[in-house]
Amino acid sequence: MSNKRKTVAVHAGSQMSSKAQPVVPAIHVSAVSYFDNSDELDAALDGKDYVYSRIAAPNAALLEEAVAAMEGTEACVAYASGMAALRAVFDAQNLKAGDVVVMPADGYGVTRSLFKNLAARTGARIEALILSDASAPERIVALRPKLVMAESVTNPLLRVPDLRALSRACREVGAALAVDGTFPSPYGQRACELGADYAIQSTTKWLNGHSDALGGTVSGTREKLAALKAARLFNGDVLGPFEAWLTLRGVRTLPVRMKAHCEHAAHVAKRLSESSLIERVHYPGLPGHPDYQVATQVLEGGFGGMVAFDIRGAGRPDCFRFLEAVKLARAAPSLGDVCTLVMHAASASARRMTPEERQAAGIGESLIRVSVGLEDPDDIADDLIAAVAEAMKR
Ligand code: PLP
Repeated sequence: MSNKRKTVAVHAGSQMSSKAQPVVPAIHVSAVSYFDNSDELDAALDGKDYVYSRIAAPNAALLEEAVAAMEGTEACVAYASGMAALRAVFDAQNLKAGDVVVMPADGYGVTRSLFKNLAARTGARIEALILSDASAPERIVALRPKLVMAESVTNPLLRVPDLRALSRACREVGAALAVDGTFPSPYGQRACELGADYAIQSTTKWLNGHSDALGGTVSGTREKLAALKAARLFNGDVLGPFEAWLTLRGVRTLPVRMKAHCEHAAHVAKRLSESSLIERVHYPGLPGHPDYQVATQVLEGGFGGMVAFDIRGAGRPDCFRFLEAVKLARAAPSLGDVCTLVMHAASASARRMTPEERQAAGIGESLIRVSVGLEDPDDIADDLIAAVAEAMKR
């Protein structure tokens, strides 16, 4: 190499040779790679090696391998966010005017808005059902949809649809079944083993576990995911190397974190249900929950780290005071962190639903959603109950 400063500045120190295998994967920030051999470059442009990170990228690929293994599927495609993953599944169905898409009436409000928008563009029709209702499989058969987009467990009311029954109904009418399994994470549920075609995660939540990276994944068979992978190349909604790296680090501790989150949530749910200030506790592990029986069949390793509750007699201003009164928990509109997060459902996760949609879903103004953290579970319960008392002093 020439020793002229301009050339040295650009090329010196750009290669490392070592036989050492790092215990932790390196973060590959290079958006593009070069090859000395043109045939190898040519093959890489067909996806056989890493050449341009919109086609394939090492950190995203490692995360995809890990999430596919956790979901028990052949393959996984990673995206820049959970919403991008949900959109990719919708787009891959190539819906035409008149096609029907079934989605939860009581699921994440942003997914509802996204699908309404996408359906309006294609002329497809959205049918919103409470998919945990026993009549849902029958309704699916009658509607003959092209896609059923389920949420298991639902955000924010923690309803648990019977995925096996939904899958049978979908098979009967040739519908694809996609399941947003963000709430239980692949620790708590492997949707494809219960009959789903696509298992979707917002990895922003439990998989990452520390609220420091957005991301999303779709898992399934190689055949089903081929169209999504091809579309991602053009859409460019790829997961960046830092986000993929942080998320993979989160995956390493997912089982141990989730075991503790589940235990803590069960304890907090019990404590809340003993308080006269709380009208109703929503937790699928409580025997009084409407889907308790189904939950024991479709959830593994516990009933999840999410709890929701209605404050007796509360309106929105009371709930806002509650959010300001918590001392340990943080009022933050996300979930899956090591620390406890609380949120007023109607003004956050269900914010983009119409008041009629919220009412049909059963999401009232008094509903608080809790992502139960790894703090001492009695400290968490004490904090929530004290904040409710403070908010309701008036
Ligand atoms: N699915 C569920 C159930 C969610 O709760 C969220 C976000 O809160 C998403 C999908 C969207 O994920 P992201 O924020 O990573 O786009």
